[in-house]
Amino acid sequence: MSVSSTPFAVSFTEVATALAEAGFAASACLPPPTALDPSGFDRMLADGVGDLGWLEESRDKRLDPRFLLPTARAMIVAAIPHQHQARCGDLRRARYAAGKDYHHVARRALGRIAASLNARHATPWLHRACVDSAPINERTLARLAGLGWIGRNALLISPNLGSWLLLGVLLTEAPVVPQPGPHGADRCGRCTACESACPTRALMDRRCLTERCISYLTIEHDGVIPADLARLFQGWWFGCDRCQEVCPWNRKAPGPGDGRLAGDERDTDILAVRAADFDVHFAARAIRRLGYQRFRRNLVVACASLGRDLPPADDEGDVVRAQRVELRAGV
Ligand code: SF4
Ligand code: SF4
Repeated sequence: MSVSSTPFAVSFTEVATALAEAGFAASACLPPPTALDPSGFDRMLADGVGDLGWLEESRDKRLDPRFLLPTARAMIVAAIPHQHQARCGDLRRARYAAGKDYHHVARRALGRIAASLNARHATPWLHRACVDSAPINERTLARLAGLGWIGRNALLISPNLGSWLLLGVLLTEAPVVPQPGPHGADRCGRCTACESACPTRALMDRRCLTERCISYLTIEHDGVIPADLARLFQGWWFGCDRCQEVCPWNRKAPGPGDGRLAGDERDTDILAVRAADFDVHFAARAIRRLGYQRFRRNLVVACASLGRDLPPADDEGDVVRAQRVELRAGV
């Protein structure tokens, strides 16, 4: 049977049930939009994206979700809750990093669901599972699919689930019956709590200024963190959750949808981690992607932002030494 002549549609209920069993607390299905409104993306580029030059290079692809699978008939968007408790000391890391690397957990779950669709319907449909792993804008697509709205903190917020969510998109040739979610209307109202709480004043006019955001500076930025921002970090060394901690829609957030996203590690022993054991210490976690030198740079900054000095270690590289110089110069 050729894919183009497939005579039946797949019920979304079938897919949604499988997603729920895998821990995805919300999902919806749409035909892949041919193009997305570029204004928000272009404004972000115009504000500056620092070391994320690949965002600009992939602009056109990101604005056409079908780029990743031109024969796609359906776009399934799903959200899986991650750990929503801090579970760390005053040296803080983003909650999503408490557990196993979500890229693997969520993407593999979507891949298994795609494979089971093919098996049940005995059809070799092609699929593409994306979890922060391809040039596609999961957040915008989740809003279009009716999973929630984009808040003033520039994150997707579900009225039922809050924003402690990881988003995934499954583009598929399977002819899944469209079923949008019920949400999408902006429900921030007059609240501006996230803007006020942001340590570096990165939020303004309903957007996040990439180059001021601690998440970008600690995870994506390669070089030295400017001292004027570094001193505002409030102890964050991997990502930042401040604009979600204060969001009233997170008061009733559910627990992790998959036990592997809960995380057993409290990350209170991180100052003792050295280059030789970094990979093992953070095995299978998103933090490992940092690499030791940026990890150490971040610790130097986080400690300094709490008024503490982190004594030098003999395995520190150029970026860490340069960060120490930057902090001393910025005092
Ligand atoms: S992640 Fe932190 S630094 Fe970035 S916008 Fe939110 S509160 Fe501000
Ligand atoms: S803190 Fe308030 S303004 Fe910010 S995203 Fe949440 S509801 Fe919206």
